[in-house]
Amino acid sequence: MLKDVVVVGSGAAGLCAAVVAANSGLDVLLVEKTRYFGGTTAFAGGGSWIPSNPLMGQVGYSDRREAAESYIASVVGSDARAQLVKAFLDNGPAMVEHLLGRSEVRFVPRALMADNSMNAPGSLAGGRSLGPAPYDGRLLGPYFEKVRAPLAEFNAPFGLMLGPLELQHVLNATKSFASFRIAAAMMLRYLADRMRHSRGTALTSGNALVARLLRSALNAGVTLWSEAPALSLVCEDGRVSGVVVRREGRETRIDARRGVVLATGGFSADPELRKKYYAHADRHQSLVAEGNTGDGQRMAMQAGAVRDERPNARNGYWAAVSTLRGRDGSVRKCPHLFMDLPKPGCIAVNASGRRFANEAAADFANAMLDTGSVPAYLICDHRFINKYGMGFVWPWGLRLGRMRRAGYFTIASTLEGLAGKLGIDAGELQNTVARNNAFAVSGRDEDFGKGEAKADRLAGDAAHAPNPCLGAIGTPPFYAVEMVSGDFSSTVGLKTDDKGRVLDGAGAPIAGLYAAGLDANSPWGGHEAELAHGGFIGVALTFGYIVGRHLAE
Ligand SMILES: Cc1cc2nc3c(=O)[nH]c(=O)nc-3n(C[C@H](O)[C@H](O)[C@H](O)COP(=O)(O)OP(=O)(O)OC[C@H]3O[C@@H](n4cnc5c(N)ncnc54)[C@H](O)[C@@H]3O)c2cc1C
Repeated sequence: MLKDVVVVGSGAAGLCAAVVAANSGLDVLLVEKTRYFGGTTAFAGGGSWIPSNPLMGQVGYSDRREAAESYIASVVGSDARAQLVKAFLDNGPAMVEHLLGRSEVRFVPRALMADNSMNAPGSLAGGRSLGPAPYDGRLLGPYFEKVRAPLAEFNAPFGLMLGPLELQHVLNATKSFASFRIAAAMMLRYLADRMRHSRGTALTSGNALVARLLRSALNAGVTLWSEAPALSLVCEDGRVSGVVVRREGRETRIDARRGVVLATGGFSADPELRKKYYAHADRHQSLVAEGNTGDGQRMAMQAGAVRDERPNARNGYWAAVSTLRGRDGSVRKCPHLFMDLPKPGCIAVNASGRRFANEAAADFANAMLDTGSVPAYLICDHRFINKYGMGFVWPWGLRLGRMRRAGYFTIASTLEGLAGKLGIDAGELQNTVARNNAFAVSGRDEDFGKGEAKADRLAGDAAHAPNPCLGAIGTPPFYAVEMVSGDFSSTVGLKTDDKGRVLDGAGAPIAGLYAAGLDANSPWGGHEAELAHGGFIGVALTFGYIVGRHLAE
């Protein structure tokens, strides 16, 4: 089979490259290894960080190139891959314009999503982060069931998708009639959906982004194959000229006139590569999609490519993850984020019974790894868990009994008893809790500043005073959930240039070979957590766009 372009992988990077190349008149085949399109992008919140994007004016923000440059210089410093950062800043706004004008992708600028390091020069309190507009999955026809389902533990309980706005309405349903009406309408739509579909069709977050890109790819005439893993690259006359794919049990060679794009989503699902690049690999729980086992990087390296040899500040975007083990041996993973960590009345302690970080900070999990606090324990009292939930226990204490029977958390009627069960020093834990309780009264966390940053307070409980993130722990029984290290993405990838071309050991582009998304090394040198919400998908879409354009030129 002969095509202009073969794209390998169907997340933000691969789909965007395919759409842009096809919009430019190229004949494109996209192959996806698993049954489902969307990869980790389909699990994600879907935020895309794009400085100077054309939509930020709608929420009252404006940006300057120099401001973004000084912000990045301050946060990322010398770990930045300068050529890639420049290409990202040059092309991010054009990528947004292209998708708005020539695809089904729509973005919503986020007024309240601040950059993660607000003290750095050039930071902005909103507007740079774009969320995907919700999407009606029914518009995909039969392809709806081919979109990878979101994570129940992250934003889709029972397959009902809750983006930030929808979640607010559900949480406020008992306080505001307007929220009640919206939440009730969502439920009715969901119940109707479930008569015909495997899950709700009102898509939000990364799932909406994937669905919109998939619809755009179909509209642009991209040929889409799922359950079709790329196995190896075809190299002839000093260039990559095609790819070998397994489809319906047969190996097929596909020739690509212009080039092959690797967008297989990095390697976090591969235990061997985790051992090589991740600390605490024996306990690590990755949140990425199961197909992301490093195939793109491996195939490229067989064709002479190299991983970027410069070390990254972090080899992954770390997450604090608790697990629930089923009787059948299955493991469900819950990332701890905005639902519990920043709320008033919970703290995270290490094996010594001491806090080690600001639980509300975006880079909390980094501190967990940096201080060797793996495992760590999330501690709260009965009042807290009944109000906010914790991990697999949902707000209003929903599923508390079920999780207790499943052994998800440790419970005791006193802090001393809790410490005993966890094997940590009772005196230390009591001191830590007493200190937290004093901070809750004064409203100032003298140790780690929880609730000082605006972003912390937005994620806390606005109705709680004096500090929306600090609350006393005192109503027995007491609970502890064990958290280990996990990741949202790997950051180590192939060495690429400003056109997304994959480079060989001597730094020269390998003709016909491109990489985007997590198959390429992070432009931020692994500083995504300190940078901004959307530091991965913004880059994946932008380099997908750059590659699509370059293939067409
Ligand atoms: C819960 C969660 C929330 C997140 N939220 C955000 C967020 O809001 N903003 C943000 O910027 N980042 C977020 N991230 C990270 C972000 O989702 C990823 O970094 C990004 O989506 C990766 O995109 P990608 O296109 O590189 O890979 P993916 O989206 O993972 O796509 C890769 C695809 O390639 C396929 N593939 C693998 N091998 C082969 C092969 N041999 N042949 C064919 N196909 C293959 C895979 O099966 C997969 O479908 C989040 C991550 C998680 C887990």
